[in-house]
Amino acid sequence: MPKVKQLLWRAAVDALPVRVELVRRRIQVDFGCKICGNPKTITHVLKNCQFARKVWDLAPLKARPHLNMVLCLDFLAFILSLLSFPLTGISATSLPVWICWNLWTTRNHQIFSNTTYSAGEVITKALEEANAWQEAQTSLQKLQAVLCNIDAAWHTDSGSCGMGFTFRLPMEKSPVQHSTSHHFISSALAAEAWALREALISAIDAGYESLQVLSDSQILMNLINS
Ligand SMILES: [Zn+2]
Repeated sequence: MPKVKQLLWRAAVDALPVRVELVRRRIQVDFGCKICGNPKTITHVLKNCQFARKVWDLAPLKARPHLNMVLCLDFLAFILSLLSFPLTGISATSLPVWICWNLWTTRNHQIFSNTTYSAGEVITKALEEANAWQEAQTSLQKLQAVLCNIDAAWHTDSGSCGMGFTFRLPMEKSPVQHSTSHHFISSALAAEAWALREALISAIDAGYESLQVLSDSQILMNLINS
């Protein structure tokens, strides 16, 4: 969501009042907020305007944003920490971001196409976009392969072996680790193959759709690829 990030950054520094921006782009507009007549800055659109307050009041968030924070940066930092109610289906903290985005874009619609949105419509649009964003992230994660490292150590005399594998999921920092031991394994190659088998079973159980396996056993990899 680069466009959303850009808006939040601009809001954080609140460098450009909306009207100055529009004058720069040579667009003729009434400079005050159409709803309350106050000077129209990004901060105004996102938090100070009575319309923004109505939207934040309606938002299905676990806590009310502090709209009286003077600095837009403090306000943004606070709303980004707010969680949505579980019923919305949005697990991440992205709803406040999409509310900001829709407060902003619906205001632009108002200027350019004379369409007006109610506070409820802004919330509905934000929920739809937050859900769509979340689904897109989930499918993106599914498309990216999970990296799997396998390794096994085989003891010649006892025929026992220790084996382990790790799954590194896209966008997750720490890998998921598994390890186990077995007896009566006939060779180092068999131990490697057993480790691979266990890794594949775990990957299927975990529902990974794409897996890239890395092993230091060249023979096993050649056997599988051939
Ligand atoms: Zn206003």
